[in-house]
Amino acid sequence: MKILIVNCGSSSVKYQLFQLPDNFCLAKGMVSRIGMSGAVLTHKPHDRPEVTISSEILDHTSAIEHVIAILLSPNHGVIKNRDEIAAVGHRVVHGGEQFTASCLVTPEIMLELRKLIELAPLHNPHNIRGINATLQNLPGIPNVAVFDTAFHHRMPEYAFIYPLPYILYRKYRIRRYGFHGMNHHYVSKRAAEMLGTTRDKIKMITCHLGNGASMTAVDKGISVDTTMGFTPLEGLMMGTRCGDIDPAIILHMMGKEELSLHEANTMLNKHSGLVGVSGVSSDMREIIEEMNNGTKSAKLAFDIYCYRVKKYLGAYAAAMGGLDCIVFSAGIGENSAVVRQACVSGMEFMGVELDKGLNEAAKNKESVISTAASKVKVVVVPANEELVIAMDTAEIINKK
Ligand code: ADP
Repeated sequence: MKILIVNCGSSSVKYQLFQLPDNFCLAKGMVSRIGMSGAVLTHKPHDRPEVTISSEILDHTSAIEHVIAILLSPNHGVIKNRDEIAAVGHRVVHGGEQFTASCLVTPEIMLELRKLIELAPLHNPHNIRGINATLQNLPGIPNVAVFDTAFHHRMPEYAFIYPLPYILYRKYRIRRYGFHGMNHHYVSKRAAEMLGTTRDKIKMITCHLGNGASMTAVDKGISVDTTMGFTPLEGLMMGTRCGDIDPAIILHMMGKEELSLHEANTMLNKHSGLVGVSGVSSDMREIIEEMNNGTKSAKLAFDIYCYRVKKYLGAYAAAMGGLDCIVFSAGIGENSAVVRQACVSGMEFMGVELDKGLNEAAKNKESVISTAASKVKVVVVPANEELVIAMDTAEIINKK
């Protein structure tokens, strides 16, 4: 069965075509600069070189049309007929409280998704646009929505309710939702398998450290707490987002600098985090390079980043009453031995011991990086949100 995965952003569409049940990626690519000058489609079939095509691509419908055309093309394609695509799986960032699992897209579901735009105005509109674009381009082929929030739906109330007037939860559904759920779900499952056990027997902390970053306490397979909250701004320091800060700072700064809501939002989401502190870059590779060149602000940004991961490791071990495994994933977590080392340094008292050689050798591949004696196992698992979407989509289609 072939499943097309679509992940729509404001000006981009990322896609992968999977062959299941072998979990084999037949082709993947991305349309970028949609609606701007110089839109490009990059496409990589599994057995041929990558191609880049420049074209006028004005909206998401046209972007999906280009994707289907290249998947079918005699030179770069991997299918002969569009009916070979059994279903399309979509990443949807916010599922609110109602979507606790992936679901088949129906007109009623589309209505519900539209209602959720209020909770995720930066993400959900593009996800909806993507679904509409595939409905137009692939009529009759089922669509499945897979949510970033769903894995976190079993958090206990004391972890998801904020200490604000409770009426705000009743009126506006202000609560912790958590994000990156597909990857926290995937890597916790894979890590348990790598350790020769199953998730329902152990306590894990999964660290998704990419441009966006979040950690989740996974107790016996259930997300019991996670660092991102009502929006993906809370929790860890990120590339351009601040993560946890005293909320009074926002009010204070809005007064002092006469910031509008929009300006304050931009400051917290785009000009903070690694780039805000370092003044160098939001990219961890450049931060590390500058730190090694002796730039103090880069070293400070690096130290804050890793310190905050460590604080949550301690907090979540306490929250779960123990810890068996730490998982590192996503761009930074998979690739950076120095970040991993700094995040767990000094945690031997909790039974966390890294093997220096294994840590340094682990780059973008599944690896156990703790010593044989380490009570808490430390594991690297490359992120694979697309595969989770493909597997969920296949499961739902098979049940239909
Ligand atoms: P996104 O959240 O956009 O999917 P990724 O998961 O690709 O992001 O992560 C991007 C981050 O990973 C960037 O900060 C990048 O610098 C970092 N990264 C990638 N490779 C390395 C590396 N070898 N060392 C340190 N950081 C890395």
